[in-house]
Amino acid sequence: MDEVALVRCTDYDRAAVERAVERVFSLCGGAERFVQPGMRVLIKLNLLMKRTPDRATTTHPEVARAVAFAVQKAGGVPVFADSPGGPFTRGMLAGVYDTCGIRAVAEELGCALNDDFSVTTRTFPEGDAAKQLDLIGVLDRVDAVITVGKLKTHGLTTMTGCVKNLYGCVPGTTKVEYHARYPQAELFSRMLVDLCACVKPCFALLDAVEGMEGEGPSGGRPRTIGALVGGENPHQVDAVGAALIGLDPESVTTLRAAKRRGLLGPYSCVGDPIETLIVRDFDIPMRTKRSGWVNMVNRLPQALRPRPVFTHRRCDGCGTCERACPAKAIHMDEHRRPQVDLTRCIRCYCCQELCPKTDVEVRRNPLVSLLHERGKQ
Ligand code: SF4
Ligand code: SF4
Repeated sequence: MDEVALVRCTDYDRAAVERAVERVFSLCGGAERFVQPGMRVLIKLNLLMKRTPDRATTTHPEVARAVAFAVQKAGGVPVFADSPGGPFTRGMLAGVYDTCGIRAVAEELGCALNDDFSVTTRTFPEGDAAKQLDLIGVLDRVDAVITVGKLKTHGLTTMTGCVKNLYGCVPGTTKVEYHARYPQAELFSRMLVDLCACVKPCFALLDAVEGMEGEGPSGGRPRTIGALVGGENPHQVDAVGAALIGLDPESVTTLRAAKRRGLLGPYSCVGDPIETLIVRDFDIPMRTKRSGWVNMVNRLPQALRPRPVFTHRRCDGCGTCERACPAKAIHMDEHRRPQVDLTRCIRCYCCQELCPKTDVEVRRNPLVSLLHERGKQ
């Protein structure tokens, strides 16, 4: 049976994170099992946007550092990479690396920040939803990938971890096209499972020291979970992440898609006992922890599904949401305030995910909320 390592790590103290990451690898047979001397290893971080680490939106630099250090100790050559929303360019990434604290880590360890902005196309005949994927070109020039996700709530997939993190292997604005091509949560998640099988990370590590609850993946609140999770199978690592925040795996659309494909086999959790780390009141607003409800929400007609609401309280008119909207449902009015046409909106929640001012909320239809409250009684 596969094993997933779960290790307590209560804060981002450098020595503590380094010890915890080393223990995760060691419980899985050691970093040398996954990284051979001379291998170029792409460390795929979650660098969703230009945010400082204390906001719990991006993979913490101490976790990135400890993983890169482990790769170096095993004789590998780490390369940090991600393609967040917006254009996949050197200029755009420079600000992200700086603000997220990753440039400082790379300079300290002497490891590379990806500066290859080419795109590669991989055919993937065995794919379920995606038979061909456009990916960041650096993937063709590395020997292995380690996905280092951040445990957060997510409007579309309920939770983001190590599998959804790989969506950053799709270059820049191509992500907008993919949201349009795979508009429903179920279909989008099947594509993500294909993407994971195509990129084939050799190891997955989940930063669940500080997660994000509430309006994740960018508009929520940091919440201490106090754990690092790691293993060979990113779906199993995410399943342990889901359990840590009290979510039934069936309520996470990527986990459900992986299970249906036979990719979420049985596993045992080694390391610290999971019962001692579960956060029972983790706030997951748009869905509940009950999978039946999530299944119901996913089947609702579009008009009844949770909708994006622009509050215009903090909006500075930057236009990121308008550019990111795959359905072209947003336009900026004469006061540079975004207005949404809900009849066109496909409920992908990219506007909420990418708004730098957390001005976009995802709200339930009042009728559905009422049914939900009744269902809880
Ligand atoms: S809602 Fe957010 S992303 Fe859209 S224009 Fe305003 S600040 Fe920018
Ligand atoms: S308005 Fe927001 S949720 Fe609707 S399609 Fe556009 S980006 Fe997606």
